Amino acid sequence: MRHTNIFIKTRKEYPRDELAKNAQVLIKAGFVHKEMAGAYAYLPFGIRVLENIKKIARDEMNSASGQEIIMSSLQKKETWESTDRWNDSNVDIWFKSELKNGTEIGFGWSHEEPITDMMKNFISSYKDLPIYTYQFQTKFRNELRAKSGIMRGREFVMKDLYSYSKNQKDHEVFYNKMIEAYKSFYEKVGLGKDTFVTVASGGVFTKNISHEFQTICDAGEDIVYIDRENNKAYNEEAVKESNIEVSKFEKVKTAEVGNIFSFGSDKCEQMGLMFMDSDGVNKPVTLGSYGIGITRVMGVIVEKYADEKGLVWPKNIAPYHIVIVSLSKDKEDKVYEESENIYKAIKDRYEVLLDDRNMNAGSKMFDADLYGIPLQIIIGDKSLAKGCVEIKNRQNGEVVEVDLKDVEDKLKEILLILF
Ligand code: ATP
Ligand code: MG
Repeated sequence: MRHTNIFIKTRKEYPRDELAKNAQVLIKAGFVHKEMAGAYAYLPFGIRVLENIKKIARDEMNSASGQEIIMSSLQKKETWESTDRWNDSNVDIWFKSELKNGTEIGFGWSHEEPITDMMKNFISSYKDLPIYTYQFQTKFRNELRAKSGIMRGREFVMKDLYSYSKNQKDHEVFYNKMIEAYKSFYEKVGLGKDTFVTVASGGVFTKNISHEFQTICDAGEDIVYIDRENNKAYNEEAVKESNIEVSKFEKVKTAEVGNIFSFGSDKCEQMGLMFMDSDGVNKPVTLGSYGIGITRVMGVIVEKYADEKGLVWPKNIAPYHIVIVSLSKDKEDKVYEESENIYKAIKDRYEVLLDDRNMNAGSKMFDADLYGIPLQIIIGDKSLAKGCVEIKNRQNGEVVEVDLKDVEDKLKEILLILF
């Protein structure tokens, strides 16, 4: 991709109306636009990161037999009333509106009830089960405080999967499979080391134990107690409820990047989602629900890795693997020609951004750092006179001068050591 074909403008300063570091850096770098508190637009570079995160989640869900769908965002009052979750005193983050004829509707903050209601059309026998269905969707939540940038949106992208199983035993097998899929997801997006599967109480979802995926992060809004030796973690409510001796736990600030729940068969029984089992008995389906905060994950990654120069992306989710910083002065010079050559040589193998803008060297290098693309190839007069270019590893700041003929080998070598 050529930079001149993309609309993006970086800023010299952080936006003054933004408190959260993640949004400050993303806005400064031109990845997102703030519409209002809790509502952000994703621009060409931002959406590439978001799509990379979604792709990793999608691959994990597909490997676990998930089937992708998209439910509607407009939801029926009756569906949520059947489980007593329409009431604002039970669910305090609803956005609601009404149709012209006065019918009340809600904007989806979660989808257990609508999907379960829909499944009545598809599940009647044990032969129809299991079904694992997921979506990427913009959820709407009227959050009281939206001061954490894209980590807490009033609209935000969630991956939510719903599992419909014959019995508790089958459900548990799948639930454990999801724990493994989630671990693999967080590992691949670059959060593996600091993300803990955390025992949690279920909140508005369920009285059963649920698990949160909590990432150590100063900007997070949660507190988790970690036992590193045994790789165990508990959230505050779970600690209170189960009278765990905490003294031996490390107390850390975290961000909840995912949450999975067992509903047992209660909700399907309440909503009338029943199936005829092989023994001829009519039984309620067992439900599980599994969320990942896709946009929150992006925010947490910014919080954890961005430095004073700007964004720093893990290689699997970076908008591009490589940016070619061409310090050419005009379209006739040697630097221009060599930048084009390198671009053409590597663009089919890597995601490459060629900075072909007509700008001074300082601004281009400033932007390349700000974008956080893991590898920079810097092509300028000085090194080119020696038959070389510079390759910079944005993750650790190291710069090496490389012979033109060795560029591809060096890129391969550094890509391997990037996180
Ligand atoms: P929180 O406690 O942070 O308000 P939650 O427990 O209400 O989150 P869930 O209903 O469990 O959220 O949603 C599943 C996932 O969606 C969460 O684990 C989190 O990663 C993400 N998420 C929830 N609320 C938001 C939000 N307002 N903005 C961005 N991501 C969110
Ligand atoms: Mg949660």
